[in-house]
Amino acid sequence: MALTHLPTVLVTGASSGIGAVYADRFARRGHNLVLVARDKARMETLATRLRAATGVSIDILAADLTDIAELGTVEKRLREDDNIGILINNAGAAAPGSVKNPYLEAFARLIRLNVTAVSRLAGVAGTRFASRGEGAIINISSIVALIPELMLGIYGATKSYVLTLSQSLQSELGPNGVYVQAVLPPATRTEIWERSGRSVDDLGVAMNVDELGDAALVGFDRREPITIPSLPDEKQWETFNGARKAMLPNLPQKHAAERYRLQ
Ligand code: NAP
Repeated sequence: MALTHLPTVLVTGASSGIGAVYADRFARRGHNLVLVARDKARMETLATRLRAATGVSIDILAADLTDIAELGTVEKRLREDDNIGILINNAGAAAPGSVKNPYLEAFARLIRLNVTAVSRLAGVAGTRFASRGEGAIINISSIVALIPELMLGIYGATKSYVLTLSQSLQSELGPNGVYVQAVLPPATRTEIWERSGRSVDDLGVAMNVDELGDAALVGFDRREPITIPSLPDEKQWETFNGARKAMLPNLPQKHAAERYRLQ
C-alpha cells in the first residue's frame, strides 16, 4: 500500500470512459482511489493495472447508483472515510427516446443517475469537506447543458442541472474552502453512445477520451469553476456568463415588467 498524504479520490463511473481516465490520472499523481460503478470485474481489472503501475491503494465499491440502498453505501463511505478529499461525480448515461416519444421508465432512471445521485453525493461530500475547510468536487456536465437542442429527450436537461448545481455549490461551499469544478465535455469517444443505442461514428466529430481527461485536469489544476475543454475562445463563455450575471440586479422586482401589465 502506498503511503500518501494526498487525499483519496472517489470516482463514480470508474469502470469505463471518462471515469477510468480520471482514475488513471489521479493514481499516477499518487492519490489512493475508491472506484464506484456496477461492473465489479471491470473495476478489478483497472485497479490491478493501476496498483501495479503506481503502487497506490485502490478500493472497489460496486453499486448501482439508481438504487437508493446501493447509493446509500457510497454516501456512507463518503460520510465516514476522512481520507476522501476529492469526489468525481462522473457516472452518467444518456437514454433513448425523445420528449415527444418518451420511454418514461428510462427517463426516470436517467434522472435517478444523472440528477439524484449526483446531488446526494455532492451534498454528503460537500458537507464533510466544508466542515474541515478543504476538498474538491468535480461534476461532469456536458456541452449540451448550454445547447440542449443538440440532443433529443431529457439528457441535456439533466446536464444543465449538473451545471447549475455546480454553480450553487460554488457559491455555497466556496467560502468554506471547497473547490467545485463543472466539466462540460463535447461528444467524446466512449461507450455512452452505444449504450444509448447510437453510434459515436455518426456524430461527425468526437474527442478522444484521454485528451478530454487531460484537458479537464488542466482546468482542475487552474481551479477553474467551469471547464469547457473543446471551446477554443474562453471569452465566449465569459461573455455568456457575464450576460447572465448582468441580469441579476434586474430580476428581483416588486412589480411585473411594463410589457406584462394589463392595460
Ligand atoms: P461511459 O463510458 O458509458 O461511462 C459511464 C460510467 O458510468 C461507467 O463507468 C458506468 O459503469 C457508470 N454507470 C452507468 N450507469 C450506472 C449506474 N446505474 N450506477 C453506477 N454507475 C453507472 O460514458 P462516459 O462518456 O465516460 O460518461 C461519463 C460522464 O461523461 C457521464 O456523466 C456523461 O453524461 C458525461 N459526458 C459524456 C460525453 C460523451 O460524449 N462521452 C459528453 C459529455 C458528457 P457500469 O456500467 O459498470 O455501472
